[in-house]
Amino acid sequence: MKTALVTGISGQDGAYLARLLLEKGYAVHGARRRSASANGWRLAEMGIARDIACHDFEILEPSNMHDVLQKVAPDEVYNLAAQSFVAASFAQPVFTAEVDAVGPLRMLESIRRLGGTAKFYQASSSEMFGKAHESPQTERTPFYPRSPYGAAKLFAHWATVNYRESYGIFGASGILFNHESPLRGQEFVTRKIALTLARIRAGQADVLELGNLNAARDWGFAGDFVDGIWRIMQHSTPETFVLATGRTATVRDFAMSVAEALDFRLAFEGEGEDERAIDRKSGRIVIRVNPAYYRPAEVDHLTGAPEKARRLLGWEAKTSQAELAAMMARADYDRVRQNRLFG
Ligand code: NDP
Ligand code: GDP
Repeated sequence: MKTALVTGISGQDGAYLARLLLEKGYAVHGARRRSASANGWRLAEMGIARDIACHDFEILEPSNMHDVLQKVAPDEVYNLAAQSFVAASFAQPVFTAEVDAVGPLRMLESIRRLGGTAKFYQASSSEMFGKAHESPQTERTPFYPRSPYGAAKLFAHWATVNYRESYGIFGASGILFNHESPLRGQEFVTRKIALTLARIRAGQADVLELGNLNAARDWGFAGDFVDGIWRIMQHSTPETFVLATGRTATVRDFAMSVAEALDFRLAFEGEGEDERAIDRKSGRIVIRVNPAYYRPAEVDHLTGAPEKARRLLGWEAKTSQAELAAMMARADYDRVRQNRLFG
């Protein structure tokens, strides 16, 4: 039986990855930061909370991190822990750099000092491409991060490559494009759209306010992506892989798909800050723009090319964006109706 340590176990990917590893027969250890209020709703919703051995883990606390690595002695470490919200990284750039850049470096250093036998996965991000030099983006596309989050992730990405090349550590990195699910944090745009439109449909909210409707992302389903993460770690050599769907939609498109699944008939009208979406059935304004959600620097358009993962790992994203939007809309509508809202 293999032993895996998953940092960020309380997050979206932590839950999906933990379930996959349990299905594959791993002993799964979860590293989660101590907090005053329990944050186990995702693992509870998946019904796997009792199957995971959890350890208090703070990535900013080197001795605590080292102790957890030493105690668990994992075969595979999946480093998913991060301050993962781009918008928050503009308000908290130093904290984001400590957690997302220096944190993984400290983990790599601990692994090296413990003998360097544990395999290490780093959760890299398409935000590292930022103001992308080419489209679609591949493993060879130059990086141009546009946020403190993107810059911090880029540091950790190179640290992983560096420890691979300097010390022979199995340090692998997945450059993952946006992936979403009913377990996504509420501040991310897909979940915000699904939850707020579900509330409007149930008569519990009036309007959905969004920022840049033209931003375009390559959105996939987190359940598909964690399988790619596991495959990256089973590959014969530690490498960097892009995981993406290869298809891109705008925020406006995604909102349309969610709205359709909730039986709205939206029509967008106006431009810029005056753009809004009217429900043709009721005549009500359902979506409007609020510039407060604009960012100091925007990533306009991301599309990934997952050919390397397809060729070497046999991986591809199976869920379409329309299926993803409908899945998220249904899940949030059920939660709203049953008054069962966790995160
Ligand atoms: P989430 O935000 O849902 O989860 C992040 C996890 O990191 C949470 O468990 C959080 O704990 C934990 N964490 C945050 N700060 C610390 C800290 N100081 N010490 C220990 N743990 C901490 O992110 P996702 O699951 O969506 O993403 C997983 C990883 O993949 C992240 O690194 C993210 O940046 C990266 N990524 C995600 C993409 C996506 O589209 N989802 C795309 C590309 C990369 P808590 O619950 O206490 O906040
Ligand atoms: P990101 O790609 O990791 O930054 O994921 P997000 O879901 O936070 O944002 C995706 C895109 O949606 C970004 O370009 C945002 O500017 C855009 N966006 C537009 N309106 C909103 C909003 O209200 N909230 C968030 N989070 N993003 C928004």
